[in-house]
Amino acid sequence: MNEVSSLIADIREQILFLQELGVDALDVELPVGQIPIASVNSDRRVVDSAPEVPFEKAPPPAELGLPKRSTETPKRGGSRISAMPSLRSRTPAQVSDMPKPTAAKPADEPVLLDVTPTLAETTDTIESIRAEIGDCTRCKLSKLGRKQIVHTTGNFQTDLMFVGEAPGADEDDQGFPFVGRAGKLLTDIIVAMGFQREQVCIGNINRCRPPENRKPEPDETAACRPFILREVAVIKPKVIVVLGATAAHNLLQVSTPISKLRGNFQDYFGVKVMPTFHPAYLLRDPHKKKEVWEDMKKVRDYLQSSGA
Ligand code: URA
Repeated sequence: MNEVSSLIADIREQILFLQELGVDALDVELPVGQIPIASVNSDRRVVDSAPEVPFEKAPPPAELGLPKRSTETPKRGGSRISAMPSLRSRTPAQVSDMPKPTAAKPADEPVLLDVTPTLAETTDTIESIRAEIGDCTRCKLSKLGRKQIVHTTGNFQTDLMFVGEAPGADEDDQGFPFVGRAGKLLTDIIVAMGFQREQVCIGNINRCRPPENRKPEPDETAACRPFILREVAVIKPKVIVVLGATAAHNLLQVSTPISKLRGNFQDYFGVKVMPTFHPAYLLRDPHKKKEVWEDMKKVRDYLQSSGA
């Protein structure tokens, strides 16, 4: 009890002392759990066209070789009272040496984090990425009959990039993406948009052909996807068109059906992403071409308005 009274007396003396110094509020560091969520969760990303379809964020950049977003709560000034010597040991010299306190911030002032995630500056080049891929055996597709690795091709200074799922038989034979029937349709789409195929860049989430043209499996996309994402960071296109569900889901890390995603610009670290139907699907259901054309007109118009 004696100790408690002495502690109270000490605190009272500290407060009087601080009042003499003109301190009328303390800038006390709150434990993280007491900081209002709204004040630390103010990621102020803006997507110009306000997509109607909500989307989840991309995976942590560590996995992608992309910039890390800080999740740390910025430290506020701690309580200066804790840094002061106890009154019992304080001498006049120490009193005059103490820093003049600054005005404390109101406790409820929100802390805004100006976090606008953009693509990383990278030291990668397309060549260095290809060299790192090498004669890849990172996933089982390397042992399931692939003839060759099909790399991203085209113009690496482009504003417009197309990303598909994985090579088919023609691509596996020729070593280039989208050179079969679906690829010819893709070329027609690109030309209809007012570009030449050589002006854009075309790649796939997976670079090896899955057997019988099945969808790449999650372990296969996980092994290969980082490379196209690193290429995106090198190329820094203004728009990426993701062709079909596999490409959209792997780039955006969402599971929303492609029929819902398509037609609405999404965001990938500041790059606009337009999900649309895969050209192979259009070959099976040509009625869907109209929707794809609507999507591509949005891309074309955005590129025109942004001076591309
Ligand atoms: N389908 C794809 O997704 N990619 C290709 O390269 C060819 C067909």
